[in-house]
Amino acid sequence: MKLAKLGAGPEIFHTVQGEGISAGCPAVLIRTSRCNLHCVWCDTDHTWNFEGTPWPHEKDAVPGYTKHRKADVTFELSPADAARAILAFGCPRVVITGGEPLLQEKELLETARIILAEMPDCIFEVETNGTRIPSPEFGETVHQFNVSPKLSNAGMPENLRLVPEALAHFAASPKAWFKFVVATPSDLAEIQTLRSRFAIPPQRILLMPEGRTAAELDLSAPQLAELCRDLGYRFCDRLHIRLWGDKRGV
Ligand code: SF4
Repeated sequence: MKLAKLGAGPEIFHTVQGEGISAGCPAVLIRTSRCNLHCVWCDTDHTWNFEGTPWPHEKDAVPGYTKHRKADVTFELSPADAARAILAFGCPRVVITGGEPLLQEKELLETARIILAEMPDCIFEVETNGTRIPSPEFGETVHQFNVSPKLSNAGMPENLRLVPEALAHFAASPKAWFKFVVATPSDLAEIQTLRSRFAIPPQRILLMPEGRTAAELDLSAPQLAELCRDLGYRFCDRLHIRLWGDKRGV
């Protein structure tokens, strides 16, 4: 399967989950490469923003920024080798992120089954943009879906970023938790519209402050927490930014 590359190896590392309802839990993170979306602010664009692709990105304005050479940022690994690398940490929680992991669901299911054969209590979380419905087998194996539908600030047409059948599927699944970064009042208005359009239970919606540093998070967090209180949503901090900023592989 295609994973993101970190240094000379695959992007698989032991960390603590930084966001969502299991924030703070020790976990092994595995990052798949490739995404079916191309958000202009994506902070993992090494998984999809390759040379020769037409997608714009905020970083285009940064002097010296160039798109990634696919071979430099991709690491091919079999499900058996990925399972072995994950099991080596001895940690009973695996966070599968991307990119968009559901593009490689078959290989990930095989990986999860190998891990479960050795570590039956292992918990699997999948971070997804909510545009694809998992197969019944994968849906049964995964314990938690952290769904982040993309808002208009991602810079893509609605028909690409919002797939009604998939969002309705996750809204109806008690395994799915919806998390959104809120930067502006219009973000909140879009979230409210999504909530009513897809009947997402408010108690499974998490709002997170925007920011790439702890100081930036602090600016909007108190106000956002009060909003969550009033709307019945869950406030979620962004632990990895507080602990490590935007450093990769931790
Ligand atoms: S869906 Fe996620 S990984 Fe894909 S481009 Fe958007 S932010 Fe990046």
